[in-house]
Amino acid sequence: MNRINSSGEKQEQICRRVALVTGAGRGIGRAIALALAQQGDFVIVNYNGSGEKALETLKMIESAGGAGEVYGCNVADFDACGAMIKDLVARHKHIDVLVNNAGITRDGLLAGMSEEDFDRVLEVNLKGCFNTMRHLSRQLLKQRGGRIVNLSSVSGIMGNPGQANYCASKAGIIGLTKSAARELGSRGITVNAVAPGLIETEMTEHLPEAVREDMTRQILLKRAGSVRDVAQTVAFLVSDAASYITGQVISVDGGMST
Ligand code: NAP
Repeated sequence: MNRINSSGEKQEQICRRVALVTGAGRGIGRAIALALAQQGDFVIVNYNGSGEKALETLKMIESAGGAGEVYGCNVADFDACGAMIKDLVARHKHIDVLVNNAGITRDGLLAGMSEEDFDRVLEVNLKGCFNTMRHLSRQLLKQRGGRIVNLSSVSGIMGNPGQANYCASKAGIIGLTKSAARELGSRGITVNAVAPGLIETEMTEHLPEAVREDMTRQILLKRAGSVRDVAQTVAFLVSDAASYITGQVISVDGGMST
């Protein structure tokens, strides 16, 4: 099997698991891509708007001795996701791991939230997970195995003022995860969700200080988490060590949702 590295060279690919991580150009997705590559997976670094950053992620993977490729695709687009999965399966013959990490926020109070902001967040966060899972599940059923991890959020468990759209999308991901786990389990496919709390990324860097302080007060460990905290949990869930875990929501939130 061949692959194209970040320098555009064709290289022989040793037989390893293929892992697709959506939104892996930056933030938590990048950390997950690096963690999976470190475990030996060939990582498809998906991006939408941040092509340069996705290439940076790939270079980081390669500098650490790993392998992968970048792939631009808007996860909110059902047909584009279908085309991406078809192309990846045609070239790699198998996809073993799917991590649905791509996500956005469009915060605002319910009373003033625009229909567009509600729809867009649902389209990317929830329908994006459906789109990739829908197109990949037939392949995983054929393979009789595979791992899916979806990024939910503490907000999907507890709710959060100013985030009705985001919380609805992240709660929806939990239902989607549990249903898929029930449908796919008999073929050895595990489906789990990870629900991070306050994690330091671009998504949270513009939070008003008062909101950050209020959240930190609710965190038992009294501090925000790192992208590595989330990535290590995802890496565990797709590893052999987690082969008997499915349909679960694992909170990585310093005890915030306890
Ligand atoms: P981030 O830094 O804002 O990164 C978001 C990622 O999603 C980017 O890589 C972005 O890619 C990708 N993305 C957005 N729209 C996309 C689309 N239509 N198609 C493909 N990719 C798309 O966010 P983060 O903090 O790393 O969050 C990652 C995930 O964890 C999200 O699902 C988020 O909801 C969840 N989460 C985060 C926290 C937190 O505190 N940070 C807490 C709980 C849950 P491009 O730049 O290429 O568009």
